[in-house]
This record gives sequence, structure tokens and C-alpha cells, in this order.
Amino acid sequence: MPDNQVDVVVVGAGFAGLYMLHRLRGLGLSAVAFEAGGDVGGTWYWNRYPGARCDVESMQYSFSFLPELQQEWRWSELYAAQPEILTYARHVAERLNLRRDIRFDTRVTSLHFNEAAEVWTVRTDQGDTVVARFCVMATGCLSTAKMPDIPGVESFQGKIYHTGAWPHEGVDFTGQTVGIVGTGSSAIQAIPVIAQQAAHLTVFQRTPNYSVPAWNRPMTPEYEAEWKAAYPERRRQAKELRTAIRLVPNNKSALDATEAERAQEYEARWATGGIPFMAAFNDLILNQTANDTAADFVRAKIRSIVRDPAVADLLSPKDYPIGTKRICVDTDYFVTFNRENVTLKDIRSAPIEGITPNGLRTTDASFDLQNIVFATGFDAMTGTLLAMDIRGREGRTLREAWADGPRTHLGLMVAGFPNLFTITGPGSPSVLSNMLVSIEQHVDWIADCLAYLRAAGRATIEATEAAQDEWVAHVREVGERTLYPQANSWYMGANVPGKPRIFMPYIGGFPLYTRKIEEAAAGGYDGFRLI
Ligand code: FAD
Ligand code: NAP
Repeated sequence: MPDNQVDVVVVGAGFAGLYMLHRLRGLGLSAVAFEAGGDVGGTWYWNRYPGARCDVESMQYSFSFLPELQQEWRWSELYAAQPEILTYARHVAERLNLRRDIRFDTRVTSLHFNEAAEVWTVRTDQGDTVVARFCVMATGCLSTAKMPDIPGVESFQGKIYHTGAWPHEGVDFTGQTVGIVGTGSSAIQAIPVIAQQAAHLTVFQRTPNYSVPAWNRPMTPEYEAEWKAAYPERRRQAKELRTAIRLVPNNKSALDATEAERAQEYEARWATGGIPFMAAFNDLILNQTANDTAADFVRAKIRSIVRDPAVADLLSPKDYPIGTKRICVDTDYFVTFNRENVTLKDIRSAPIEGITPNGLRTTDASFDLQNIVFATGFDAMTGTLLAMDIRGREGRTLREAWADGPRTHLGLMVAGFPNLFTITGPGSPSVLSNMLVSIEQHVDWIADCLAYLRAAGRATIEATEAAQDEWVAHVREVGERTLYPQANSWYMGANVPGKPRIFMPYIGGFPLYTRKIEEAAAGGYDGFRLI
């Protein structure tokens, strides 16, 4: 094939892009991956802020496709920190010899479908033009960091950081004043670590978050051995659960339990820590009264940890159900507010007005700061895809197709955009699941689909409008049966001004979703047009 022609272009070299490349190679297809960053790892390449670590246990937040890899690799902690996860991603790339097909520091700017030739023309900011039959968007759900639009940023004489684009050399805050804007998962991990270093840390909070302790600890040889001995079985068990995270679900309604039983269950889950807290009862995301019991429990915990009752009250979420923004998993978050050098500033009642040369000004006070950390999140799920000029049939842009919110069939393809796949796209369980499991699932589905097309002598596959309409309606209907739409979350697009308010991931659960995509494939790609 000429240099600028490949079977498949992969965009992104995080975990999704890496596994996709590996599978494409196995199929004997030529492929090139473009990666905007300077190395593999995606999320774990960019998010190097202090305290960054996974919130799904590492024995589960890891690839399963290569039995030897999961047996050989050794995690040092229950929840690995960012540097270790990045080292793991690099190890995978090297072990599978993937780097030779990845062009780093190269951002894909446009992908245009040529209907006559049935190929995509892909262009990059480095001047590359590549023609490919298929494109796979391995661009991540949380890969476009969102800086808030606050006037005066350019006047600031100190240093500004975003958690999602942290300097590689690290930052030493020793003896300095620091302000952090945001109290989502990133901030909740960063705050306790920055507080230990900085002379003073001011936390600017608009909305408090529910958080449960991680109780992170070093990996013990016994725990590791137990997992490794039972890996295939445990991975299978995880996939039978809604989140594809292996945990102990309780198939009982919170409202069928007595107050004492509820307290016991929540205490036990708090003592174990992590995301399994939300599996304490089976109706916590479905029923407001049930949800209130869990939210009350967490608020009581906050009051028991934080000494100043006014600060405890400010840190207690009150206006959205627990779990409808991603539950945070922390190490010493609430107790950090007992430190002398930490101040909590409520910016709901007194919003930030602007950044000044010396710090930040709210409507009621000024703050002198040498550093401002924005932990303000991402233009999630759609922002990265829409940042590229993607044009399908008749030159229609993805931006036009998604003007009222993302529309996909099964989170895998978009009608009007033949041969273009999305890994963990909107309309799939993605961010509501253990992402490594969802990534493997999508990569395998796409690889099997490409093999099928080849065997069947078909050149293109495309979602039909009818199947897509049905799927979009189903995703919405299932979402509306839950409490999720009640929160102003990034799941709903609420954190980006002007973004359509739609619950973007699929909450039907991993097992049901698996059945749907497997049935579609088994039926000769039902809901897709093959030409
Ligand atoms: P990413 O890792 O986001 O990789 C996408 C890559 O595509 C990036 O490297 C980006 O540079 C590149 N890219 C994007 N656009 C372009 C372009 N136009 N041209 C070229 N390259 C491009 N999930 C969990 O399940 N458990 C966790 O504990 C967890 N912790 C997280 C912690 C943080 C701080 C964040 C931000 C997310 C976390 N997630 C977690 C979600 C996480 O994003 C996924 O688990 C997973 O790493 C996603 O992998 P990916 O390859 O799909 O996407
Ligand atoms: P996030 O959850 O979107 O939180 C952003 C925070 O910034 C919120 O507190 C938000 O307040 C605040 N904010 C945004 N814009 C603001 C503005 N203009 N003024 C004031 N405050 C503003 O982002 P994130 O913490 O980076 O996490 C995103 C997702 O990444 C998580 O939900 C999770 O899926 C993943 N993640 C996981 C981990 C982990 O534990 N492994 C760690 C980090 C991230 P409002 O709520 O009021 O909008």
C-alpha cells in the first residue's frame, strides 16, 4: 500500500487505541494511530496532578485480553496511582510492540468521507494526509480539559494549572499559597495532597460532592495471589454486574430494610470503601426515598469527620441524589478541612467574579494566591469528537448530526458516517462502567465486525437511521427512569454552557448492553447497513 494509505486509522493511544492496534494487527490489517500527546496512556498521560489514582481496584482496572499480562503484572497498591498506571500502559505498548504504528504529538484535525471511493481522508496538525477505509475513534470520554471562562486570566502573575493537563515535571507548592477551583473527583484526590505541601490552600467550591473513603493500601501478596488464581472467573463475574466491576451487590430495596439494617449495611460498605458503596441496595439510583437514606448516611459521616459544623454543612451535598454525579473515592478528603492551612470558600453564594494579577476575586472577597489549580473537569463524551472536523455522507458534519445531543447506534457508530467507529461512545455504558472492560468489549466488537466484513466481501457498514432512532430513544427512556437527570452533571452535559442537556451514557447495565450488541452482530449486524 502507498505510504499514505492504510486499512484503518485509529485516533488516540490511550488504553482503547492500544488494544485496537493490537487487534488490527492480529487481523492482518494495516493501521496507524495518531496521538496528540507525546506518549501512550491517554488519561494517565495527561492527568498527572498530585493524588491522581484510579477509583476501580487495579486488579480490575487492567486488561484481561492477555492472560500472561495479567499474571505477570504486579500492582503495588489496591488503587494504583497515576505514575504506575502510565507505566503499565507503556509496558503494554512495548510488550505488544505497538509504538511503531503510533505517531505521537500529532492531532487529527479532520476526517472526511469520500462517498465515491468509500474511504476516509484523515488530516493532522502535522500536515499528514492519510486515506483509510475505516476509522476508529479511541479518543476517550474525558480527554478535553475544560477551563472555565473567567475574566482576567491573562492578568494573573502567578501560575495556573488544570488537573487534566498537568506539567510533566510536577509542581512543588511548598511554602506557597494555592487556590483550587472545583470539588469533583480530581479535586477531591488533589486537595489532601496539595494541603500537605502548600503554606495555605483555599478550596473554591460551587457544589459539594458525595465521597466515600478508598482505604487505599499496599497490595498484599495474598490478595494478589487470590485474584490471579481466579482471574478468568472473577472477570466473568464482573461482567454479570451493571457496572462491570466485581463487587458484592445487595438485591434488596433500601426501603425493605429496617433503619438498623440500613445503618449496618452502609457502615459495612463505608468500612470496605470505594464504589461498591452504591451497591448497598438495589434501588439507590432509582428511588428518591431510598437514595435519601444513603445520602443521609454520608452527610452524617461528613459531620462526624469535619470539626467545624459550618464547614461540615457546606461540604454536605443537599440538592442532588447521591450517585447521580459520579461518586468520589477519596483518601483523607473531609479530614483535610480540619487543617489550619485549609479554607473552604463557598462560591455558590458568592461566585468568582474574576482573576486579578494577585489572585482571585469573588463577589464578597479577594484572595491572594500564587497558584490557581482548575479542577474544573472536561467537555465530556462529545467534546473531543466534536473538536475534529468530521464529515460523513453528503459532507454532513458530526456537529450538525449531534446539534441536539449525541446520536449513535449502540454507542458504536453514527448513521451517515460509514466505517467510522467510536470506542465507548455516547449511548454505551462507558463512564458508568469499569472502562477497561468496556474498552475491551468495544475493541473486540469492532475487530470482529471488520473480520466479518472482509469474509462477507462487504466494503462498508453504517448504522441505519431507524435503528439509531430506536437506540437513542431507548437510552433516553432508561436514563429517565433513574435519578440521574436530576443532577447538573457532566453526564448530562450540564458543565459546558450551551451543551444540550441529555443523559449521554447508557444506564441499562453492562449485561443487557452486552446482549444487545452481541445479538446485533449475531444477526448479521442487525440495525446496520452493509454494502
Ligand atoms: P483516553 O485515555 O482519554 O485516551 C484518548 C487519547 O486520544 C488521548 O491520549 C488524547 O490525547 C487522544 N486524542 C483525543 N483527540 C485526539 C485527536 N484529535 N488527535 C489525536 N489524538 C487525540 N475510569 C475507570 O473505569 N476507572 C477509573 O478509576 C478512572 N479514573 C479516571 C481518572 C481520571 C483523572 C480521569 C480523567 C478519568 C478516569 N477514568 C477512569 C476514565 C478514563 O478516561 C478511562 O478509564 C480510560 O483511561 C480511557 O481510555 P481511552 O483510551 O478510551 O481514552
Ligand atoms: P468534574 O467532576 O466535572 O468536577 C469539576 C468541578 O469543577 C466541579 O466541582 C464543578 O462544580 C467545578 N467547576 C466547573 N466549572 C466551574 C466554574 N466555572 N466555576 C466554579 N466551579 C466550577 O471533573 P473532575 O473532577 O475532573 O472529574 C471528571 C470525571 O473524571 C469524574 O467524574 C470521573 O469519572 C473521572 N475521574 C476519576 C477519578 C478517580 O477517582 N479515579 C479522578 C478524577 C476524575 P459544579 O459541580 O458546580 O459544576
